[in-house]
Amino acid sequence: FDDRDGWIWLDGAFVPWRDAKLHVLTHGLHYASGVFEGERAYSGHIFKLREHSERLIASARILGFAIPWSVEEIDAACRETLTRNGLTDAYVRPIAWRGPEEMGVAAKNTKVHMAIAAWEWGAYFGVEQRMTGVRLAMAPWRRPHPTTAPTASKAAGLYMIGTLSKHAAMDQGYDDALMLDWKGDVAEATGANIFLVIDGEIHTPTPENFLDGITRRTVMGLARKRQLKVIERTVPESDLARATEVFLCGTAAEVTPVREIAGQVYTPGEITRTLMTDYEALVQLPPDEVAKAAA
Ligand code: PMP
Repeated sequence: FDDRDGWIWLDGAFVPWRDAKLHVLTHGLHYASGVFEGERAYSGHIFKLREHSERLIASARILGFAIPWSVEEIDAACRETLTRNGLTDAYVRPIAWRGPEEMGVAAKNTKVHMAIAAWEWGAYFGVEQRMTGVRLAMAPWRRPHPTTAPTASKAAGLYMIGTLSKHAAMDQGYDDALMLDWKGDVAEATGANIFLVIDGEIHTPTPENFLDGITRRTVMGLARKRQLKVIERTVPESDLARATEVFLCGTAAEVTPVREIAGQVYTPGEITRTLMTDYEALVQLPPDEVAKAAA
């Protein structure tokens, strides 16, 4: 992924894609002192850009470091990264981390660095899966209790169990993994939140030990605009057998139907299709209209 043309914003300036390199003693590499975002641009506008920049800053604060750029500066840098690369429909990846200025668990003297890259990224699970639904295995790892890890941060370190779980799922021929939380209730997929339709109502786990996704909140708003009932609650694993529709949502995954969870089969239905279509329409609106749509 590193050997290609393009420009990457690095600490305030654009560098050629191939030259955006770090020192091997970067603290973020050794001790996972890194936080990142995943954004999508549609027709030249980054969807919910402000929310993403704010979350990046908040994620860093949770890990105890301050990003030396403001929300406005990060917004502007993300937009410039798109235009500089000639992109209108793309994935945008800002990341901030502690640098190589100090080595060891203590890192108070490190500098905080930031980079932003953007590239074309079509359907997260592939075009066919988007239509027919993805298949999820049960993850071998559980989301930790919020006193075990800083679960409200989009911290690089939390993705260790995500990668392990996704690889385990792929090795069994599945697309992704469903992670339970530390107590055994439904949490999320490795890079997307989950919704279940039970008796025509939409149920989703309370985000107590995983990321409260920006797409998740958007989809809840879209559902309520459709007069659908949305219930945030603890979702026991046994509820998977009661659901008639299941779908995932996230910036990269958008709204993606689920057709199987470890042998339990679902048929993507009316509610999933409606929310997929509503989300596709919303992301195409200019930012001020997205705000007005209040979803
Ligand atoms: N959970 C995890 C683990 C994720 O990586 C993501 C994607 N950022 C989400 C949920 C969904 O978050 P969002 O809708 O803000 O992209």
